[in-house]
Amino acid sequence: MEEKFAGIPVKVEYKKTSRLSMTFDKDGTLIVSVPLRAPESDILRFLNDHRRWIRIHYTQAVAFAEAHEDIKVEEGGLVPYLGENLTVHIGGRSRITMADGVIVFPEGSGEDEYVKWLKKKAKEYLPSKLALISESTGIPFRRTRISGAKKSWGSCSPDGTISLSWRLMMCPPGAIDYVIVHELCHRLHMDHSKEFWAEVEVRMPDYKKRKKWLDANSFLMDLFE
Ligand SMILES: [Zn+2]
Repeated sequence: MEEKFAGIPVKVEYKKTSRLSMTFDKDGTLIVSVPLRAPESDILRFLNDHRRWIRIHYTQAVAFAEAHEDIKVEEGGLVPYLGENLTVHIGGRSRITMADGVIVFPEGSGEDEYVKWLKKKAKEYLPSKLALISESTGIPFRRTRISGAKKSWGSCSPDGTISLSWRLMMCPPGAIDYVIVHELCHRLHMDHSKEFWAEVEVRMPDYKKRKKWLDANSFLMDLFE
């Protein structure tokens, strides 16, 4: 099987499956999963039948790959924190420290250490921010939960529990505030009706530009496991 289809890098993976499927990995390679004994002609037909899908998603995959190319927990790499990209320095200390746009990791650190640190920061930052905004907007909530959600930044359950993803710690404070206002307003309306958005706008007149930032940077949700 050739390694390119219509100029797009392809990797075929033979699996114990009865059907063909495909997805792009984070580097923009099309990964095609096929049954163990699938003939090459079946694979080619499958690709040809989905030409349009492949084109559209390839463009998105490349944009994603470019956006996070420099994000790496290694010397000289970048990591997103509160809307800024911190420069990574791997030093010898026993804990992660941060100053003047530089984040210093102990020797041998990688993504796991960064994620652990983000989760710790989230537990300090998000609940107190939620309490503050709840007080200033006069909308109460019952409980707060830090989640690892990748599909949404936050959610609000009917019993009044507000869940916020630790992944929010990569976003600017203004965008985090918007997510909190959004979830608090679900205490008033459990839907995305006109009435709901009116409540959001009253409390945060410039919410649209903050929401736009989150929409444009949703790739941050898929950055780490
Ligand atoms: Zn919502």
